[in-house]
Amino acid sequence: MSTAPIGVLGGTFDPVHYGHLRLAEEMGEALRLDEVRLLPSGTPPHRSAPEAPAEHRLAMARLATAGNARFRVDEREVRRAGPGYMFDTLSELRAETGAARPLALLLGADAFLEFAAWHRWHELFNLAHVVVAHRPGFPVERWAERMPQPLAREYSARRMQQPLAIHLSPARGIVVVPFTALDISATAIRDMLRAGKSVRYLLPEAVLDYIRSHRLYS
Ligand code: ATP
Repeated sequence: MSTAPIGVLGGTFDPVHYGHLRLAEEMGEALRLDEVRLLPSGTPPHRSAPEAPAEHRLAMARLATAGNARFRVDEREVRRAGPGYMFDTLSELRAETGAARPLALLLGADAFLEFAAWHRWHELFNLAHVVVAHRPGFPVERWAERMPQPLAREYSARRMQQPLAIHLSPARGIVVVPFTALDISATAIRDMLRAGKSVRYLLPEAVLDYIRSHRLYS
């Protein structure tokens, strides 16, 4: 069995777009991840309900990842009844992969700044490393100033300078990895679709075809 790290990218993916896919691709490459799992959420606890039903978000994630051998779509959050906490998801993954396999929770810097609001967030560090995908050229110090105190404490205690250090232990570290941010959000895509504007080249053609044929976000 492989012992290379598994990356976990949660989100509403409402719909999945190239911002998500570049994040998964660049983190997969930079961290030499064995696989990157996209986990579309069921009922997200931290935000308003997604617009598209879970089955459609799942189907779009499958279409978007079909051509990439490293990508997988994990259905568990959609299948679970009740709120989809990352704590439950990572606990299950940890039980499935065993104690030794590194798990890496992938987050955009925006999502990391909200991290201290997550259910049992402290305990998430026992289950996985946290990888913060960060836009280069934006000073990390300035970004660190925006962290709430409890998160800033964890950040300075757990920060590992070498991203590949996540291969050496199963969990507990925080790494910051520079990446090419694309200024794309699902919210903007939904707004453009509602306004009848083109969203071509913001997401894969197969996802766009799916949106059209199921009349989503119109
Ligand atoms: P919405 O606009 O509906 O809030 P979103 O486009 O931000 O959606 P999410 O499903 O909320 O997408 O995001 C899932 C994860 O992907 C988060 O960790 C988020 O930081 C990251 N992410 C979203 N958009 C981008 C992007 N353009 N580049 C890099 N990471 C992104």
